[in-house]
Amino acid sequence: GRPVCECYACYTGTDCSQISSNCVADANSGDPIFLEPFWMQHATNSAILVSGWHRMSYRYGDLYMSTELENYIRNMHAVVGNAITEDRYIVFGVGSSQLLSAAVYALSSQNSSSPSNVVASIPFYSIYKTQTVFFDSKSFQFGGDTNKWQSNNSTNNMDVVEFVTSPNNPDGELKKSVLGGKTIYDHAYYWPHFTPIPAPSDHDLMIFTLSKLTGHAGARFGWAVIKDKDVYLKMLAYIIVADLGISKDTQLRVLKLLKVALEDDGKPFFKFAYNKMKDRWDTLTSVFSKSTRFSIQHIHPLRCNFFNVTRLPSPAYAWVKCEREEEEDCAAVLQAANIKGRSGSVFSAKDRYVRLSLIKSQDDFELLVQRLTELVSLENDSI
Ligand code: PMP
Repeated sequence: GRPVCECYACYTGTDCSQISSNCVADANSGDPIFLEPFWMQHATNSAILVSGWHRMSYRYGDLYMSTELENYIRNMHAVVGNAITEDRYIVFGVGSSQLLSAAVYALSSQNSSSPSNVVASIPFYSIYKTQTVFFDSKSFQFGGDTNKWQSNNSTNNMDVVEFVTSPNNPDGELKKSVLGGKTIYDHAYYWPHFTPIPAPSDHDLMIFTLSKLTGHAGARFGWAVIKDKDVYLKMLAYIIVADLGISKDTQLRVLKLLKVALEDDGKPFFKFAYNKMKDRWDTLTSVFSKSTRFSIQHIHPLRCNFFNVTRLPSPAYAWVKCEREEEEDCAAVLQAANIKGRSGSVFSAKDRYVRLSLIKSQDDFELLVQRLTELVSLENDSI
């Protein structure tokens, strides 16, 4: 008899071209697969081949980190105009995740009798809290929301390390330090795909990641740009003690990827990335414009010195708010419509908010749009 075929994943129908009605649009994770088509178009010149004898040592001469890669990173920042790297130190980490905790270690006062307080402004990326609690130390503790520290001048322990995520995860805002003391700038999303670049960032400690630049989250590569030598040495010590430095295979791959991303002064790569995010924002904005039940964050145009235009941001995430008073658990409302997002409480905000990832694959995004369109059309049917 004829073989019985099953459709792949969410598809159904005799030729598997329809999306099954119970299929969930998963917009939970920030996995940056949206750039996969670019790398497919550049499959050959972005590939690496590593011989068995190559890079067997722990080090490059005396160093754990490739000077050539460091130069490419400085060049990338110069081309994009998003950070000052002259007279700064650079440290590599296993993803920027490792550098976040290295930075907390480096900035907290080790000889103080009371621990430094690690703070961030709500809504904030949850790993700052998770890591600070998990790597429990005599030197630091999690101090919660920045606002609490602003109004609390009377506390005798004012030793604070502030995380500033700019653009912010989850809402895409270009944030600035609230307390103006010791600060860690997490610039994971400070690239033209997600935001206009109004000026190069010039802060004492800035952290970037390959994950949200080229989309290679699996390579686990991030870097910190550091002004102060003592802070640099402490962060370097952290990475060496934790791992004896990071993988040489990864450094080689990153070098190759950055070379391709930097071709023609980065124009083909950043145009591809920005156009993809802009298209997604145009689609999303149009869906939410028909809704009064749900809203997304407002975005405002700014001058982008990389593209030389005034343009809107195109953030990695939609920060959705359920407007109906009784709909306090927005993730549950979306889940009932087969949309999976991340609850506001994960970002220490209200569950009236939910984050939807816009940086997954095209299939994921299209399914998300289909589910959102169905949900919003219900509102208009009932009028
Ligand atoms: N910072 C922010 C704001 C992020 O959103 C992420 C990843 N989602 C990271 C840091 C960590 O990324 P990675 O460890 O892959 O560099």
